[in-house]
Amino acid sequence: MQVHRMAVGLMETNCYIIADEKTNEGAVIDPGADSSLILDKIETLGMKLQYILLTHTHYDHIGAVAQLKRVTGAKLAVSEEDAAGLTDGRWNLSAYGGSSVEAAEADILLKDGDELRLSGQTIKVLSTPGHTKGGVCFLCGGELFSGDTLFAGSVGRSDFPGGSMDALVQSIKTKLMPLDDGVRVYPGHGPATTIGRERAGNPYIR
Ligand SMILES: [Zn+2]
Repeated sequence: MQVHRMAVGLMETNCYIIADEKTNEGAVIDPGADSSLILDKIETLGMKLQYILLTHTHYDHIGAVAQLKRVTGAKLAVSEEDAAGLTDGRWNLSAYGGSSVEAAEADILLKDGDELRLSGQTIKVLSTPGHTKGGVCFLCGGELFSGDTLFAGSVGRSDFPGGSMDALVQSIKTKLMPLDDGVRVYPGHGPATTIGRERAGNPYIR
């Protein structure tokens, strides 16, 4: 699976574009802003977009969803517990910044352990509440897309509505730490890391 990263919007949210090398079918994870840049990239790659996947529905992760879905017709997948944030500016926190962000209705409501198929490869859904109530990570082979759950050397904030530091640490310990050391971690903000590096050095999961 090819992984392309774009840091989008004022919050420099990592939007990931993943694509199967053979078929060029792909998915976009957390298109937070800059829909035209993301669409340009998809076109340059010659990619057929199958899914728009959301790790959670804070505004800085969903700002380009509506436009992307309208142009490409890709299926929008989000956890059941976070779906309200797609259309509720208070839930997704955009209402506090002055301009309410509205995404689109979900096509697929995700639960822990669900698997999506992409060109014969599997994208597994790991429920990791704590940053938001319905936060998820996506595991695709040896790559983990960790949203605002796990960062390089840190973890996401837990002080927004629905957040809990206990739940966040528990999610990381029970869902992510069992993964192999070599699994590459692509967070919602900042640089990539690996499970092994975080297991050894992340102060939140000692
Ligand atoms: Zn967030």
